[in-house]
Amino acid sequence: MLVAPYPELDDLLEMMGEAGRHLAEIEASEGAAGNISVCIRWQIEPRTRFPVIDEIELPQPVPELAGATFLVSGSGRRLREIIDEPTASIACIVVDEGGKTGKLCTSYNRRFERVTSEFNSHLAVHYDQICSSGTNFHAVIHAQPVHLTYLSHIPRYQDEQYLNTHLLRWQPETIINLPEGIGFIPFRIPGSAKLMAANVESLRKHRIVIWAKHGVMARSDVSVKRAADRVEYAETAAKYEHLNLSDGEIGEGLSADEIRQICTTFNVQQAIF
Ligand SMILES: [Zn+2]
Repeated sequence: MLVAPYPELDDLLEMMGEAGRHLAEIEASEGAAGNISVCIRWQIEPRTRFPVIDEIELPQPVPELAGATFLVSGSGRRLREIIDEPTASIACIVVDEGGKTGKLCTSYNRRFERVTSEFNSHLAVHYDQICSSGTNFHAVIHAQPVHLTYLSHIPRYQDEQYLNTHLLRWQPETIINLPEGIGFIPFRIPGSAKLMAANVESLRKHRIVIWAKHGVMARSDVSVKRAADRVEYAETAAKYEHLNLSDGEIGEGLSADEIRQICTTFNVQQAIF
């Protein structure tokens, strides 16, 4: 939830650009992999930046979000290039009355045909989170960080308890930033209804979820950069874990007792350790 003064459209586009560039820097967005969206519920005037208007059907009806604005990365666009020319890579969607359709507002310099093919998951997660928390702002990122995705191919890391007790043991900050731990979804076809439903479910309990053998989805109701931070915290944990596996598992990691002491000191509620 944000309080006034709210960020302007250009500020939001810039933050999406910075998040996109950073995701590329941490090797979480090769080629055109990954996508970003934000939902804004205060009044935004998109027409100066996005003058071309088409009518579209939304992937699912979102009646409670009538009037809300989405900024969404375009299919096939590179997250690292958003910052250079945001309107070439991002579309703006304003939800119509009734929530079944929206105005797709784009720029004359847009370099994509459709918004990201994962928009169904983005929209469903925004909708679920906004309806339950009432937030006026929500950001969702899908990225493909190498180490987290690699670990999701190893059977024992496909168990949420095993995954979290092993990843959240390398730095004190990890449990503080991800107190609900990292969610895990078994492999689902990209863009599918099954992946969408699993995302909604897992992101109710977690701030970031691994899509097995594919990547992650992270959310934030504060900023798109905060959502990107969550990708980075989880990926850093996975890097440590990978390092430890490569070194014959000689690192001991923080003990469960040490992690519980950190949580007591910093007043972190968690149920993993
Ligand atoms: Zn992907």
